[in-house]
Amino acid sequence: MQTYGHAFFRTGNTKFIGNNIIKEKLLLHVCCAPCLVGVLPSLNRNGNFDITCFFYNPNIHPYKENRKRLDCLKEYCSKRKIDLEADESYPLEQNLRTLLNADNRCEACFGDRLEQTALYAEDNGYAYFTTTLLISPYQNQILLEKAGRTAEKGRIPEFLFIDFRNSYRESIRISRELNLYRQSYCGCIMSERDRYLNIRSPGERPRF
Ligand code: SF4
Repeated sequence: MQTYGHAFFRTGNTKFIGNNIIKEKLLLHVCCAPCLVGVLPSLNRNGNFDITCFFYNPNIHPYKENRKRLDCLKEYCSKRKIDLEADESYPLEQNLRTLLNADNRCEACFGDRLEQTALYAEDNGYAYFTTTLLISPYQNQILLEKAGRTAEKGRIPEFLFIDFRNSYRESIRISRELNLYRQSYCGCIMSERDRYLNIRSPGERPRF
């Protein structure tokens, strides 16, 4: 279990064989390209990772919106030669059941996405996993950390809890500059409704 602050993160995961730095394999769960462009420089600045992106977001409704975000991510990764693994299955019914049956749908949503990421990381020999969701000032980081810690339990890959929120403004600037598709709601069909009704999602960070 590791939590890194930026100050000591640089050497926290560095391994050497002779003078060669060995990069640790990190699986980065990605919600969308605009968040990725903010998280990647931050990860590269602060660690030595061999990064693969992982798209698993059945919570993005409807199907067309899901593909829009995925297509944009594919194009961005392909242009920049970034490794991307995308789970293109779209278990909508299962996802709706998960969200609607939960006391807190966002907690269940984070849990499902990070559980699948941890599973993939474990099956494919990754040392770490984390998520671009940690860049959003709108998401509840306590719930995100809880989901990551639950997903890492009993597994070799460790969840890296890194607060990327300092890079949020930069992610907006870069994604506008690159003309990346920017979504106007969190993902599920409830959040699409809630933006019009000005209702906060249950996974939104607490306001004090
Ligand atoms: S509001 Fe966002 S985090 Fe919450 S359930 Fe919907 S898609 Fe998931």
